[in-house]
Amino acid sequence: MASEKVTAEEKEPVSRNFIELEIDKDIAAGKTKTVCTRFPPEPNGYLHIGHAKSILLNYGLAKEYGGRFLLRFDDTNPMKEKTEFVNSIVRDVEWLGAAYEGDVRFASNYFDQMYEFAVKLIKKGKAFVCDLSADQIRQYRGTLKEPGKNSPFRDRSIEENLRLFEEMKEGKYPDGSKTLRAKIDMASPNINMRDPVIYRVARMTHHNTGDKWCIYPMYDFAHPIEDAIEGVTHSICTLEFEDHRPLYDWVVRELEFENPPRQIEFAKLYLTNVVTGKRYIKKLVEQGIVDGWDDPRLVTIAALRRRGYTPESIRMFMEMVGVSKSNSSVDYAMLDYCIREDLKLSRPRMMAVLHPLKLVIDNYPRDQVEYLDVPNNQEKEEMGSRKVPFGRELYIEQEDFMEIPPKKYFRLYPGNEVRLMNAYFVTCTDVVKDEQGNVVEVHCTYDPQTRSGSGFTGRKVKGTIHWVYAPTAFKAVVRLYENLVDESKGVYDEEGNVNVNPNSLTILENAMLEPGLGEAAGGDSFQFVRNGYFCADTKDSRPGKPVFNRIVPLKSSFKLPKKNN
Ligand code: ATP
Ligand code: MG
Repeated sequence: MASEKVTAEEKEPVSRNFIELEIDKDIAAGKTKTVCTRFPPEPNGYLHIGHAKSILLNYGLAKEYGGRFLLRFDDTNPMKEKTEFVNSIVRDVEWLGAAYEGDVRFASNYFDQMYEFAVKLIKKGKAFVCDLSADQIRQYRGTLKEPGKNSPFRDRSIEENLRLFEEMKEGKYPDGSKTLRAKIDMASPNINMRDPVIYRVARMTHHNTGDKWCIYPMYDFAHPIEDAIEGVTHSICTLEFEDHRPLYDWVVRELEFENPPRQIEFAKLYLTNVVTGKRYIKKLVEQGIVDGWDDPRLVTIAALRRRGYTPESIRMFMEMVGVSKSNSSVDYAMLDYCIREDLKLSRPRMMAVLHPLKLVIDNYPRDQVEYLDVPNNQEKEEMGSRKVPFGRELYIEQEDFMEIPPKKYFRLYPGNEVRLMNAYFVTCTDVVKDEQGNVVEVHCTYDPQTRSGSGFTGRKVKGTIHWVYAPTAFKAVVRLYENLVDESKGVYDEEGNVNVNPNSLTILENAMLEPGLGEAAGGDSFQFVRNGYFCADTKDSRPGKPVFNRIVPLKSSFKLPKKNN
């Protein structure tokens, strides 16, 4: 599945990011033999576009250096974890093309080893059992300006600590009544180093280990151990863990791992005007504002996939965004640019009328149907062509006709001639109106000499409009999207609710598509000429009855940023 491997030497030195430069140094110094990275999600929600950054970065580095990439669930906090999330995450990682080595791994599979490592710290006099409550621990911790105070339990003997810790494991103590703490330095300027808790007593059923444990390791203790056990060389994480790095290093040093992993931080990817926070998405799902975690208006990976984004487009986007050490926000339009680029030459261009208006060609023989040869993609001849029916009665877009046209309107209006895409020139002759005076049918005549592909050069027209032959048109539901967030108001209101754009979803019940589109299966995507790129929905489509989601319109204001190298 992975495409060709690019070796480190082949990549231009100027374009190397700061993480690659660090890895280069470690290799040069002989510290790293085989690069090993991992993606360590907590199974407490669906992955979003930000996680895709982390996945592709870690996977990309492993691939670039001919190393290993692992997928490991950081399931040390059973409170919010669910098997549903494990499954969705595995699917998303695989879909993105990040091929991980071997089986999926679970931090919880190392609970026994972690326990032994904790015992090792106790034996070295580097950890102690503390009876302070969570509140007291907080009070003793001090502040950024003031050092903390030693716990009164800090000087317990090794024997006593070993006994108490074992009793914690055996369930002798109620939840929250005792902790195991690393013995480091209560006066450290880094609060994370002030005797951090590394184990707590908590009776929780774990999705993997069930009720086997009533003590659970804390993230800062567990994570470096997981990395070390698996042979991870570079533990890449986001900036909020920078202050935790000294503790990470302390853990791997005190546990005397032979080739300790090293943590490197990068800036999270943020997109402007989108909702990524799990708790906000959860709320939108629970309130029924969106149709599940994969509602096409969300930026979870499941939602992007359902909307019709491709793994290629997401990879292109991440390449463009790059890796940085300072936080910044990226415009969503850039992602749209990437999906257009990916679909432009790879998807057939079909005719679909979203807001139909009947067009009758009065001088076209009543019982005649022609099958016109239409290229599947004008920019890519290899994609071949197809036959599209044409006859006397067609549908065109409502906006392609105006009874009283404004200046520079080159489409259909009484007396004007336009080209029907891939077919003939037609001249508007008349309209039929309903009782309210709305135009319900447009009449025209066609010129048989002007057939597309016939080489006709007699005269030119300024407008070209698309159409669908009415008797065989495939009637379908088509959904159009705008940003879920009302951009004029910002993402969240004061109460922490999402400012939802009331126009974020438009459902068109009567779109008329060229007949071939009726056979589309969920996940198939197309350009609908002039209207954008569309994908058959994987959830709501039925055999022979696809429902289409618009991925993106054809145009945007986004300009490709100039390369800075
Ligand atoms: P969130 O709270 O946004 O859902 P999280 O950090 O709680 O995310 P984790 O499951 O802990 O989710 O994250 C797994 C990995 O993905 C971590 O290494 C984390 O640093 C990384 N990650 C999370 N959000 C982003 C982001 N916006 N950009 C890049 N990496 C991210
Ligand atoms: Mg997290």
